[in-house]
Amino acid sequence: MSLIVQKYGGTSVATPERINAVAALALKRARRGDQLLIVVSAMGDATDDLIALAKSITSKPDPREMDVLLATGEQVSIALLAMAIKAQGGNAMSFTGAQVGIITDARHTKARILRVEAKGIRKALGEGRIAIVAGFQGETETGEEITTLGRGGSDLTAVALAAALEAEACEFYKDVPGVLTTDPRIVPEARPLPRITYDEMLEMASMGSQVLNARSVEYAKRFGVPLVVRSSFEDVKGTLIVEEEPGMEKVLVRGITYAKNEAKVTVLGVPDRPGVAAELFRALAAADLNVDMIIQDVSESGVTNISFTVTQGDLARTLEVSRGVAARVKAVDVHSDEHVGKVSIIGVGMRSHSGVAAAMFEALAQAGINIQMISTSEIKVSVVIEKTKIEEAVRVLHRRFGLETEQVELARPFITAPEEVGMLTQRMKRPAKPAVRVKARRKR
Ligand code: ADP
Ligand code: ASP
Ligand code: MG
Repeated sequence: MSLIVQKYGGTSVATPERINAVAALALKRARRGDQLLIVVSAMGDATDDLIALAKSITSKPDPREMDVLLATGEQVSIALLAMAIKAQGGNAMSFTGAQVGIITDARHTKARILRVEAKGIRKALGEGRIAIVAGFQGETETGEEITTLGRGGSDLTAVALAAALEAEACEFYKDVPGVLTTDPRIVPEARPLPRITYDEMLEMASMGSQVLNARSVEYAKRFGVPLVVRSSFEDVKGTLIVEEEPGMEKVLVRGITYAKNEAKVTVLGVPDRPGVAAELFRALAAADLNVDMIIQDVSESGVTNISFTVTQGDLARTLEVSRGVAARVKAVDVHSDEHVGKVSIIGVGMRSHSGVAAAMFEALAQAGINIQMISTSEIKVSVVIEKTKIEEAVRVLHRRFGLETEQVELARPFITAPEEVGMLTQRMKRPAKPAVRVKARRKR
């Protein structure tokens, strides 16, 4: 008998009808003979609503009390799902994060998992029950504090439990048929991907796609947990997230993501001497502020400008810290721009094919979209552009790399001349189906 971990997101349990539908899906699976552990999110926008409620009381809610509040969202859905399964003749038992021993540090609202005890689950499963666990929440070592894992943290709960219990796979159920080439709300022709590597998924998740929480993908890769993303609305195969396999690099661009909640900060007139950048970014890191892209201008007569991006939510604190450093190092001023966003193209094929970045920049130029900042990794190119152009850029790039047609595997190096693009995006044979690994392999 194999153990499967399933995770249902907010959309999949948004209404009583949806909860009943999920209960039916789970029961169908359990009756096939699999042991099931289900992790659920709060219903629909419940977490957003709770945050709004807190903000209606005070603009700076106490983080400890925020966690006490936010953890209630998932507690509602686990109880309702367990009731639904029982009402349909099945057997289920709900657990909070604390009850199963999701032990975290004490960083309220963004706690990190220290270990997973998975208490009580084996027993419940052994008794033929479906175990239902509240996502997104945990408790501190001493049990004194309720914590939450950061937005989208239910995905991490699911992967962490799958790793701890050596589940055969961790399946994510969504309102889309799988991981798509891009956000279907922007490009309706976006296609489901049969497979994607952990690294590509990680880039997509961290570059703004909402499909999976980035930390959960990292965790899955580290512990070798096979992931599947599929629909809770229709019976489709979905997307398999796996280690890179031969042939996967033949697809140049697997997906396109965007983030609209970016802000650009520029420290003007920075003295160009060793240690200044270090001082600025050390101060930001010490304040737990995550910086993404960084650009330093060519220096003129001993001064330069340093620009970088942060999320909009972090902008106020970033400005505070940057102004402090600017005053100390005698920089001239600090500016910010919230009218920017980021678009990224992602694919392991970029490692072995040249010209992908050039093709991206050309396509954006032809659409009259100005690039303000660029950053790259081995398998990703990101650009910062004006926020109002984000959706157009996503559409242009989706077309440019032929993502609306069947996944193509290139037979030869990528060439960027426009007349060659048609050739490259011709339909070709789909890659052979990968074998799902049977056991979660533990790596160090
Ligand atoms: P959940 O309810 O499980 O938390 P989310 O709402 O976080 O699910 O994520 C699914 C949504 O993410 C989809 O409805 C879709 O609109 C959006 N999305 C954005 N980019 C993609 C993508 N590349 N593939 C699939 N869905 C995407
Ligand atoms: N309910 C939480 C959120 O909306 C956690 C999750 O859904 O993963 O962020
Ligand atoms: Mg989500």
